[in-house]
Order: sequence, then C-alpha cells, then structure tokens
Amino acid sequence: MKFTDFNLKKSIQDAIQEAGFTEPSPVQKEAIPLILDGNDIIAQAQTGTGKTAAFGLPIMSMMKADGSVEGLVIVPTRELAMQVSDELYRFGKLSNIKTATVYGGTAYAKQIERINQASIVVATPGRLQDLLMSKKIKLNPHFVVLDEADEMLDMGFLDEIKNIFTFLAKDRQTLMFSATMPKAIRKLAEEILQEPKTVSITKSESTNTSITQLYYVVEERERDDALVRLIDFKNPNKCIIFCRMKKEVDRLVAHLTAQGFKVSGLHGDMEQKQREVTIKAFKQGGIDIFVATDVAARGLDVNDVTHVFNYHIPFDSESYVHRIGRTGRGGKTGEAITLVTPNELKTIKRIEKDVGTTMATEVIPTRQEVQNAKEDELIAKIAGTQITESAIKLVKTLQHDLDIVTIAHLLASMIQSENAILGKDKIGLTLDQIALAIEKIRNERTPSSRNRSRGRSGNDSNRRRSSGAGKDKSRSGHSSRDHGGQSRGGRNSGQKSRS
Ligand code: ADP
Ligand code: MG
Repeated sequence: MKFTDFNLKKSIQDAIQEAGFTEPSPVQKEAIPLILDGNDIIAQAQTGTGKTAAFGLPIMSMMKADGSVEGLVIVPTRELAMQVSDELYRFGKLSNIKTATVYGGTAYAKQIERINQASIVVATPGRLQDLLMSKKIKLNPHFVVLDEADEMLDMGFLDEIKNIFTFLAKDRQTLMFSATMPKAIRKLAEEILQEPKTVSITKSESTNTSITQLYYVVEERERDDALVRLIDFKNPNKCIIFCRMKKEVDRLVAHLTAQGFKVSGLHGDMEQKQREVTIKAFKQGGIDIFVATDVAARGLDVNDVTHVFNYHIPFDSESYVHRIGRTGRGGKTGEAITLVTPNELKTIKRIEKDVGTTMATEVIPTRQEVQNAKEDELIAKIAGTQITESAIKLVKTLQHDLDIVTIAHLLASMIQSENAILGKDKIGLTLDQIALAIEKIRNERTPSSRNRSRGRSGNDSNRRRSSGAGKDKSRSGHSSRDHGGQSRGGRNSGQKSRS
C-alpha cells in the first residue's frame, strides 16, 4: 500500500513525497481512511509508529486553509508541542497551513498573535485552558486531536482537558491517540467522542518488531557492574537508562561519569531551559547516555537511540512499553535491555503476558569476551587508519632510542589502557541458573507443573540465547561489525567532556 492510495489532496501528497515517506505505517493505514470519512476515532499505537502523520495528513487534506483556526492538537508537554508542530509544518507548508505552538512559560502576546494567523494550534493543556478561560482567544476548530492521551492523564491533566472541551463546539471531529488504553482513557473517550471508530495496533505489531527485547538476570549488588559491562559490550550510539527514583539517577550519573562516559541525568524537576539544553546535547552527541526517570523521559523523542536500559524493571507494563518505545524509532532498529534479579523474573513474565511479546534472556559477557570484541574492533580500526606525516615523524624520533617492535608494543599498550574493561570476570546468572530460577517461579504458581518443567531446565550450553526473539540476528562470535569504527567518545582518557 502506498500513500497515493489515500484520497489526500495533491499538495499534501507532494509534502509526503518531499518528507521521503514511502509506505504508510500500520496506524496510518487504518486511521487515515477513517478520518477522511469524517469519523471520530480512538487509536492505540505505540510511540514511534507515526501517529502525528496519521492524524496530521488527513485533517490537513480536509482543511480550507482560509486563515481561521481549523485544527486543535492537544499534547502533554512543551517538547511534544514543538515536535508535533515541526512535523505538521513539514506536511502543511505546501498547502498554506500555518501552525501555532502554545505552551506555558512564555509570553502570551506572541502566542496569541500566532494563533490568529494559524490554521492549526498545537497546545499543552495548561496554557490552552488559561487562554480560553481568560477569553484571550476564541477557537472554533472543526478538528480536535488529543495526542498521547494516556500521558496527559498520567500527568494529571484530566480536569484541564474536560474544561477545555466545554469551550469547543459540539460540531467537530475528534481524534484521540494513545499508546495505552487504561480505563480512564476509555471513560474520557466516551465523554468527548461521538460514535468513534477504534484503531488498535497492539501486540505483535505495536511492540515495534524492530526493537529487540532482552533481559539479564543478576544479583542486586551486581547491577552497576552489569550495566557498565553491557554498555561496554553493546557500545550504544545513544542510550537511555531508566531508573525508578531521582536519587538513583544522581548516583548512576556520578558512577558512569567517573567511568568516563558522556552522561547526563534527566530530571522531572529540571528547569525547562536546562532540560532543553541537555536534550540538545544528547541529540547532537555531546552526551551519549541519559539516565532518566519515567516522568523525566515523558515525550522524549530522539532519533538514533540505539539502546534502552531498564536499570530496574518498571512495575507496570505500560511504563515498560513507554520506555522501550524510546528506541527503534522512525524505522530504525533498537534494543531494550532489562536487568532483573531472580525475584523479579515474575515481573518479566507478567509484562510478557500483558504486552504479548517474549523477551529473550542472555548471559552477561565476561570481561574476556568483551575484551576480545574490543580487540577485534581495535584491529579493524588500526587497519583502517590513514598514516599521517606527524606520525611518521614521531616514530622516527622514537627510533633514536627504541627498536620498532618495542615502539609498536608501547603504542598498543597505550591504546589498550584506554579501553580496559574493568570489573570481575563473570557477572550475573548463567542460562542454567536462569532456567532454574524461572522454573522456581513457575512452581510457585502451579505446583502440579513441577514435573513437566523440570525436563527443560538443563537446556543446552550456557552461552546461548534461550528463548523468544526468533527474528534477531544471533550473535555469532563477537561481531565487531555492529560497532564498526565507532569511537568510545568520552571514555578516552583526558577527554571526559561534559556539556
Ligand atoms: P508517534 O507519535 O507514534 O510516537 P511520530 O509521529 O512522532 O510517532 O513519528 C515517529 C517518526 O517516524 C518521525 O520522525 C516521523 O517523521 C517518522 N515517520 C512517521 N510515519 C512515517 C512513514 N510512513 N514512513 C517513514 N517515516 C515515518
Ligand atoms: Mg506522537
């Protein structure tokens, strides 16, 4: 199926082409025709599945672009407001559709001026309510979108939203988008939608198949070592580490900084300006690792996040889905890695059931294994390096006192000391131990299954992945291909940069 199969007007089709979109995503395939037919919809699809275009394209295609505000999009955070605006601008610019972005913390006057020129207003609930209640603006949009509705409710915006809807005309088309569908969302939908059609891209389709989900079983005291080892091994381009508490965020930031990583915390109570600066640094590569709580990472949309780490497993499945959705965005692949203790295996099993996926388990690579992988990487890098004039001069100087083999050994030692893998050799449980631990929790639940599951526990060698994720490429040896040539940034001594 192609975008041209939809009945979208020419200038919108052109913008889609310009954006480089070729195939509509599942939520777009389902939602766009329903919206074009004039239906209210309630759509569930995960982050990163293209919801903005799913509502943006059809409503913009139906707009008159006559200078009045025809569309209102309500989003939970200022950042999302800016992101959604940017995305809508891309699609609307050839159709003379202007967007205004409205959020708290900035002057009213300018925003009001923009609103008066816009066809679409993208707003956060608080500021929008202010503007409506103080009668600073009057809106009569035909299209109203609630984006990331679950996050808005999580953030406590229910009253604001209900209040906002008292200002809106009944004669409207209302579209609700959410990554999850808890009861409170359904209830709100009943109040504000009329005979909505449901779009649900869940389960296998939504748990974005481009995200590989893994978990590692460790003892409580091994978490830090396991995390560092895995970062060393996986060599993420950008990653987000999720913690449960702010306190933990601070501690981990200090710990990882001391190890030479370019890392920053993301706090819920960070000042907006500081938050933006930090996110920008992350986007541009000045920071490679974010350590964040769920609240702080809400609405965070950064491309190229290759890995999400759950330092602690989140308690509820919805947080899990939200967290892992920060990777594998925009058609790229990603890996979600969760650390659990044997006790927490129960939570893994529950989330697997709730979300409808299987997570695979692996054993944390030993120090030697990581070292070997790094060595392969280093060899490839050395072989690919261009010889410079100054290097030739340096070696000549060294040759006054040393023979060439000694020089080579010294240089190699110098490079390797920067890449040393620290910590104890073995971390966490082996596959046999994991299988036993899983059997134990199964038996706790169903005593009668004891005999059946026993046969499975002794399964094959220790090192291999044991279940699920059949699509993933298996790790044959230690491919340095995945990490090809990528430098470890701030881990090189003497350049522990922080912005
Ligand atoms: P969501 O709102 O579901 O989290 P977004 O609308 O923010 O997702 O889209 C995520 C990313 O995917 C954006 O960078 C967007 O430009 C891109 N995208 C959306 N739809 C498509 C598509 N059909 N083809 C390619 N990229 C797409
Ligand atoms: Mg979105």
